[in-house]
Amino acid sequence: MNVFTPTKRSRVKRLHERGSYDEKSVFEILDAGLIAHMGYVIDGQPYVTPTAFWRRGRTLYWHGSAKSRMLMEQAKGLPVCVTVTHLDGLVLARSGFHHSINYRSVMAFGHTSEITDSAEKIAEMDYFLERVLPKRNPSLRPMTDQELKASKVIAMEIAEASAKIRAKPPVDDEEDYALPIWAGVAPVTQVMGVLEPDPRLLPGVPVPSHLDRLRPGKRLDLLMAEAAKVGA
Ligand SMILES: Cc1cc2nc3c(=O)[nH]c(=O)nc-3n(C[C@H](O)[C@H](O)[C@H](O)COP(=O)(O)OP(=O)(O)OC[C@H]3O[C@@H](n4cnc5c(N)ncnc54)[C@H](O)[C@@H]3O)c2cc1C
Repeated sequence: MNVFTPTKRSRVKRLHERGSYDEKSVFEILDAGLIAHMGYVIDGQPYVTPTAFWRRGRTLYWHGSAKSRMLMEQAKGLPVCVTVTHLDGLVLARSGFHHSINYRSVMAFGHTSEITDSAEKIAEMDYFLERVLPKRNPSLRPMTDQELKASKVIAMEIAEASAKIRAKPPVDDEEDYALPIWAGVAPVTQVMGVLEPDPRLLPGVPVPSHLDRLRPGKRLDLLMAEAAKVGA
């Protein structure tokens, strides 16, 4: 099993039994996500920026406007901590103190660089679209040179990563289990809604079959995980 070797910065200390460093645990959490929070420092000021991302092997990628301050600074090379979080449930205990949250999260550390080669940039952005919406890209008009120039793609090889998971009922003080107080888990999931056609959609354009997988009620994290397998 491939494992990220933890150091002082990535070893889970608080509730360390919830932590793991194997690629499988880390990648499963990353691949079930679409949005990460990028933590980085510019001129001594910390910023945490929510950003869509994708993964290939041990490298994370994200992209955006070539004029984005975050991307311009990261293009020069910055240490970054990328976090991905899935909120899975509210944990209701018999005391306020023992209320908790069920979650899956990853913190990944690395150093950024810019993908400057045009072919590689296009390949990565195509991969991203394919990863989120498999089979959609071939039905779209191709990217223009201007759009390519207006986009920056950032890569970060994961140097270290930790996963932390809580997936269990409340843990109360032993004597509190005798109290007649409702306790348990209120599950939380993010699901797809009903497709909303663009008001400017040409009349008679059908919903393409590649969107069948976005059926209402489908869990977003499962959708993302399935698409990651398709793209892998
Ligand atoms: C949805 C959600 C809600 C949370 N709410 C709270 C809260 O209200 N209060 C609270 O104290 N904690 C909360 N946590 C846990 C929190 O993320 C930290 O794990 C905790 O605060 C311990 O922080 P620390 O700096 O002492 O961790 P340490 O164990 O000292 O961190 C050392 C290293 O362990 C790893 N690590 C730590 N936390 C995580 C993590 N969550 N995921 C992946 N790797 C990790 C990192 O590599 C980190 O650098 C929550 C987590 C999630 C995902």
